[in-house]
Amino acid sequence: METVSMPTTPSKSQHVLVLNCGSSSLKFAIIDANNGHEIISGLAERLGSDTPSIKYKYQGNKTIIDLSANQAHAEAINTLVGLIKDHNLDEHLIAVGHRVVHGGEHFTKSALVDDKVIAGISDASSLAPLHGHANLLGISSAQASFAGLPQVAVFDTAFHQTMDKVAYLYALPYKLYTEHGVRRYGMHGTSHYYVAGQTAKLIGKQVEQSNFISAHLGNGCSVCAIKGGKSVDTSMGLTPLAGLVMGTRSGDIDPGLFNFLTTQLNYDAKQIDNLLNKESGLLGISELSNDCRTIEEAAVAGHEKAALALDIFCYRLAKQIAAYMVPLQTLDALIFTGGIGENSDIIREKVITQLAFLGLDCDKQANLDARFGNEGVISSATAATKAVVMPTNEEWVIALDAANIVKEL
Ligand code: ADP
Repeated sequence: METVSMPTTPSKSQHVLVLNCGSSSLKFAIIDANNGHEIISGLAERLGSDTPSIKYKYQGNKTIIDLSANQAHAEAINTLVGLIKDHNLDEHLIAVGHRVVHGGEHFTKSALVDDKVIAGISDASSLAPLHGHANLLGISSAQASFAGLPQVAVFDTAFHQTMDKVAYLYALPYKLYTEHGVRRYGMHGTSHYYVAGQTAKLIGKQVEQSNFISAHLGNGCSVCAIKGGKSVDTSMGLTPLAGLVMGTRSGDIDPGLFNFLTTQLNYDAKQIDNLLNKESGLLGISELSNDCRTIEEAAVAGHEKAALALDIFCYRLAKQIAAYMVPLQTLDALIFTGGIGENSDIIREKVITQLAFLGLDCDKQANLDARFGNEGVISSATAATKAVVMPTNEEWVIALDAANIVKEL
């Protein structure tokens, strides 16, 4: 991920198995690095529980495989190997690309997995223990199951390593940074990187000469200020809990809340972590759901707390976007991506309306048309600043990075 326009595409048909391991899930896809075409994709979920299963899509057909109780990542990857062989998909596989959530300061770009890289990921995983542990498990299981294939790690944090100290340091005792690595790292880097490159193409500018603010809005949400193709600030922090309101995560809160919760309400650290990560955000405010579509439908039907949750989500997002005019000073385009960013015309309009002072406006029809994977400019022809919907494709970036690293071997 060294340049921001999409890297040179490899020429021959080159398939990369892309793995994204969560603590109890594993998303997978085989992607043709040449064109981003998805050959097969699926999700293993509830790993380690009583009812783990794998569902996958191949040639338009959806299939579900039940795994035995307690089976986890290694067994899921073994089943995946069987699937790949059954469908003769192993012939063109050139690499396995792993999405790794936290690369700390070790990794400024994707890396071929070796002992040193594993040690680096292991070091960084103290900063995101759940994700880090799952990522390492995914790598070791894939190494065992695909022994002949190079493994490449692609880091969610790498794109943000261009941030300046002024943007990434917290106003905490400096030693916490130097001795324990406490700082802003940011996540969703592959997505912000990809949509910046694609948006530059869409609006006919060089990414190196463009200033963008990209809003990746999915279950997790983050905003990134991208100056000349480089991340200069982003809303997630040491962990993916910081910044915007998300599905179940609070985003930024008053740190004094910790003292209040512990001394007044007898919360312990685990309960606080749970509250902020799993019970807050859209779910916490609406007391209904973490799912944006459900919240929108309820708000339209008159559910007051759902409407409030949407308003808070949009207000906080608009405020964060406005703040990034400080490092950028000028803006070529505001980019919406992720499940919500790509599909919710309601949220896009609510956010853009609050940012009219940046020269943004919203063309109602273009906004309605930009859904179901359609990219497009959704501001009017006369808007001083463009608003853009750009579907993300993190899997393709991972496949391309893996293919390009393998090419050098
Ligand atoms: P993840 O972060 O897990 O990859 P996604 O990027 O798939 O998540 O985004 C999931 C979110 O996108 C959910 O909140 C879902 O409700 C929302 N979403 C998907 N389609 C729509 C839609 N048509 N309108 C509003 N929200 C949508």
